[in-house]
Amino acid sequence: QSKQQVGPSAEFYLPTMRSQCSQTLTMAARLRHALDKNELRLYYQPHIDLQTSQVVGAEALLRWHHPEWGVLSPNVFIPIAEETDLILDIGEWVLRTSCLQVKRWQQTCGRPLQMLVNLSPRQLIQPALPPMLHEILSGNALEPNSLVLELTESTLMQDPDLALKVMHQIKATGIRLSIDDFGTGYSSLSYLQRFPLDILKIDRGFIHEINRQPTNAAITTAIIQMGHKLGLSLIGEGVETLAERKFLLDHQCDGIQGYLISPPLPAAELLKYFPE
Ligand code: C2E
Ligand code: MG
Ligand code: MG
Ligand code: MG
Repeated sequence: QSKQQVGPSAEFYLPTMRSQCSQTLTMAARLRHALDKNELRLYYQPHIDLQTSQVVGAEALLRWHHPEWGVLSPNVFIPIAEETDLILDIGEWVLRTSCLQVKRWQQTCGRPLQMLVNLSPRQLIQPALPPMLHEILSGNALEPNSLVLELTESTLMQDPDLALKVMHQIKATGIRLSIDDFGTGYSSLSYLQRFPLDILKIDRGFIHEINRQPTNAAITTAIIQMGHKLGLSLIGEGVETLAERKFLLDHQCDGIQGYLISPPLPAAELLKYFPE
């Protein structure tokens, strides 16, 4: 299953949905309505520590439960939200909801679980972000190292100087930073040197059939070695088979996330992965 086959892409959907709604503004208005009417939901995908095989945290992933269109993928509506300031409101809701959720899980099972949250470019450079993060953490009495913010290489590229400044502010609070889909963007190596990072998530395109694709194996092995030498943790994304899991374990990857462990699930269904 290639990256393209995973689901309909934003490129595929957007023109259709745009013509249905005639313009992005209309679509954005529906999305604003969705946020107000609780049609946006967070699903959570657990990831495990490969050494212990224990679930150590989860990534918050948005879904839009549309009354007529069914469950929409974030690849369809996040790009629309990102064209307007709506992404700031949605992003704030995601942060608040996911931080409250991880605190509840921690209280239920008495373990230091972590929450990984995707951050859009506009959110990162929003001046209100660092104080908001502080307020959310203290409001929930949540340890800062329970929260990991996922950034993409393209997010860092938009305004690297500003991104760097904000990242240092965020890091100073104890929140950790991760690069998502690592290896698919540009300037990966210089960014590793420049930005204060904690985790690299290896894109699932490199994990796919890793035991049968020598190029994927070579790239993934190199990313793990390099990441470790830079003091970073590595999470393999999109792990679907036992062979992929074994390869990553054998090559000292720290953690994995993927359908092999679990698809993204509603919060209540994740409890079974958190033994007391
Ligand atoms: P991502 O952050 O790279 O998330 C991983 C995506 O891979 C998720 O797609 C997940 O469901 C999917 N996935 C996980 N394991 C497997 C697997 O084993 N095989 C395959 N084929 N796929 C797997 P999803 O949930 O559709 O999210 C797509 C993207 O939307 C995310 O990619 C992220 O970039 C964005 N996104 C999701 N939620 C948010 C959010 O709250 N805020 C922002 N800004 N972006 C979000
Ligand atoms: Mg992510
Ligand atoms: Mg990813
Ligand atoms: Mg992605």
